[in-house]
Amino acid sequence: MIHIEKNVSLYPYNTFGIDVRARFFCKIATVPQLQELIASSLYKTEARLILGGGSNILFTKDFQGLVVHMELKGIQTLAETDERIRINVGAGESWHDFVMHCVNQNWGGIENLSLIPGTAGAAPIQNIGAYGVEIANVIETVEGVDASTGLVHVFEKDECRFGYRESAFKVELKEKIFISSVTLTLTKKNHLFDIHYGALRDMLQQQHGDELTVRKISDAVIQIRQSKLPDYRKIGNAGSFFKNPAISHQHLQQLQKNYPLVPSYPSDSQNVKVAAGWLIEQCGWKGKRVNNIGVHPFQALVLVNYGGGTGEEILRLAEQIQTSVKEKFQVNLTPEVNII
Ligand SMILES: Cc1cc2nc3c(=O)[nH]c(=O)nc-3n(C[C@H](O)[C@H](O)[C@H](O)COP(=O)(O)OP(=O)(O)OC[C@H]3O[C@@H](n4cnc5c(N)ncnc54)[C@H](O)[C@@H]3O)c2cc1C
Repeated sequence: MIHIEKNVSLYPYNTFGIDVRARFFCKIATVPQLQELIASSLYKTEARLILGGGSNILFTKDFQGLVVHMELKGIQTLAETDERIRINVGAGESWHDFVMHCVNQNWGGIENLSLIPGTAGAAPIQNIGAYGVEIANVIETVEGVDASTGLVHVFEKDECRFGYRESAFKVELKEKIFISSVTLTLTKKNHLFDIHYGALRDMLQQQHGDELTVRKISDAVIQIRQSKLPDYRKIGNAGSFFKNPAISHQHLQQLQKNYPLVPSYPSDSQNVKVAAGWLIEQCGWKGKRVNNIGVHPFQALVLVNYGGGTGEEILRLAEQIQTSVKEKFQVNLTPEVNII
């Protein structure tokens, strides 16, 4: 039986700590509950927003519609051999708790994605990635419920069209599918560790001679993240506010004439990615504070709410940053965060 609440504060439901309200709010714990909601008359007339952990969302105003909070739980082993395991995780499970569950069993593949906030169900949406690994590397299928018919649909990996912080769920399937669970395959032995990312490699090299394990990589990732990123429970934020922009090789060469140190890495045959944080820092934004909001002093890519800031203020700051990066480098920054 579903329960629809009215006029609910979304403050506890977003990591930016923005105090806005939802006209209607409904917690969903099972697929039948979701189907019951989809069949309801209120659902048909209201605008809707699917909400996980609220760690990739900036609320700029009250939401005049129905917020559906995804709380579907469960971790299930579907198949396993000596080498591999196929697991299904409910959309409402905490992503980091799920990673810790896998690390505790010595299952490899997602250890580089430790400590990313949010839910397992949202993880495929922007194809979460960190330290050289993306969730797309281990995904088999994504299970969802059609937001208009209530029918269950299983998306094979290629239907998800994963890219850098992208997937079909962010574009043509946006708000059309409630992701109910995700199925992934992890390794039980002969793990394929990825430690090419500079800071991670350096930290693990300090423990020279020791054999790499799933846990050691996870611990190192957690240590690096805790030293670099603000804890959203203390300072509101949504991680990287912008994506790293892709520019042409020619554009990079032009930039390098004036800025030989611009950090870049290959994107595809046409483009290279440049570090958005570096561009923002060069424009003088790092550590800037405007009343209750600002740019984090250690990480220019992270916009923060020191408490009491509004989503509109953060959005205005983001726009100013975009303008100055455009003027100085002729580069367009695109938000990674969903602006509502
Ligand atoms: C401190 C910090 C560090 C971060 N570091 C990283 C990082 O290293 N790498 C990275 O990729 N991201 C990072 N993020 C961003 C964020 O954690 C991820 O994008 C995460 O997957 C968002 O999950 P969520 O449940 O909070 O999604 P939400 O913010 O609740 O929602 C994000 C989007 O997904 C939709 N959505 C949510 N759940 C569902 C569902 N079940 N079905 C359909 N649509 C849904 C929402 O409508 C919204 O459009 C970071 C965030 C913070 C605060």
